Amino acid sequence: MPNNSLNQKSLGAQAGTASAVSALQENLPAHPLPPLQDRHGRTFDYVRIAVIEQCNLRCTYCMPEEGVQFKEKDMVLRTDEILRVVEILARMGVRKVRYTGGEPTVRSDIVDIVERTVKVPGVKAVHMTTNGLLFPKYAKALRDAGLFGVNISLDTLKADKFETITRRSGVDKVLESIDLAVELGFPRVKVNVVLMRGFNEDELLDFCELTKDKPITVRFIEFMPFDAHQIWENGQHFASAADLCGQIERHYKPQGLAPSQGTRTEHHMYQVPGYAGKFGVIPAFTRSLCGNCSRIRVTADGSIMNCLYSEAPYYLRDLLRRGGTDDDIVALFRKAFDDKYKDGFEAKKAASVAAKINVSDISRSRASMTQIGG
Ligand code: SF4
Repeated sequence: MPNNSLNQKSLGAQAGTASAVSALQENLPAHPLPPLQDRHGRTFDYVRIAVIEQCNLRCTYCMPEEGVQFKEKDMVLRTDEILRVVEILARMGVRKVRYTGGEPTVRSDIVDIVERTVKVPGVKAVHMTTNGLLFPKYAKALRDAGLFGVNISLDTLKADKFETITRRSGVDKVLESIDLAVELGFPRVKVNVVLMRGFNEDELLDFCELTKDKPITVRFIEFMPFDAHQIWENGQHFASAADLCGQIERHYKPQGLAPSQGTRTEHHMYQVPGYAGKFGVIPAFTRSLCGNCSRIRVTADGSIMNCLYSEAPYYLRDLLRRGGTDDDIVALFRKAFDDKYKDGFEAKKAASVAAKINVSDISRSRASMTQIGG
C-alpha cells in the first residue's frame, strides 16, 4: 500500500481516535446515529418519560377521585428498560430528558433513575416534573444525583382552593418545595400553573408576583382535554394564551414589562425589570407551538407518543420484552416520528377517526394526563 494511503489511513485512524476521544471528553455517545427527525423537518432531541401512572393527588383537570385504571406494576417500564431507551435515544441526538408521571417521586427508585441517566453519554440535562408534595424528602438526593431542572406543579396559592382542585391538602408543602429547590441550587426551577377560567384566573398576577424575589420561571399552561372527561366538556374553564397575555401586558406595561427568552414551547415569556424571575404562557391547547415541536414522549407502560394529541400506538415495552435489538428500537422510534402529523390538530383529528373505527381499542385511549405523562 503506497505511503500516502498509509498516511491517510493512519491520519484517518488518528482522526477517528481523536473524535472518539473528544466524544468521550464531551461524554457523547461512542456510536452516534442520525438524529430523530420527521417529514416536516423537525428534529427531536428532548424526551419526556413517564416513570409511573400513580399519583398522590387527584386533580380535577386530570383524574377522578377514584383515580383511573392504573397499569399493573409489571406493565410499567422497569429501570433497566428506561435506561436502555435513554441510551438509544441519546445516540439519536436526544440531549434533554424529563421524568414525569403520575407523580415521579411516588416511584421509590427515582433518585437511582436520575443518577444513572445523568451518566448516559450524550445526555446534557435531566429534569423532573413533580407536584412537590414528596419533593422535600428527595430534593437533596436528587440534586446530588445531578438533577438539573425541576418543574413544580401548583395551580393556586390558597389552601382551600388547593384542596378543591387536588382533592388533597398540602399547598404549604408545595410552596416549601419551590423555595427548597431554589435554596439547593437547582439551575432551573419552574412552576407550572394550569390556568382555568372561573377557578384560578384571579391569581394570575399573584403568581407573576412570585417572580419578584424568587429566581424562578412561572409558566401558565392552557387547560387541555386530558381530564378523564371531568370538566373539559362543560367548556367553562378554558382561558386562551392570547387572553392571558393580554391581561399580563395590560397590568405590567406601566412597569416596563419586557419580552424574555424561553424554551421552544415557552412562547410568550416576560420579565418585569428588577424582578428576579420571569413568567410566561404556554399555548398547549391553542397549539401555536407545533412548528417548534422537539418532544418525544414515552408513557409509563412503554408506548411511544409522537404527539400529545396522538393515540397512534407504538408498543416499545413489548418490543423491549420480546428481545428487540437496539436497531429494532431505533426503527420503531423512526417509524413513530415518520408518521408524525404536522401539528396537534391533525393528530387529534386522526385520533378521533381511529377511535370511531377501532371502538374496541378505546381501552388503550389515554383520557387522563396521568396516562400520558404531560
Ligand atoms: S401538540 Fe403535538 S405537535 Fe404540537 S407541540 Fe404538542 S406534541 Fe408537538
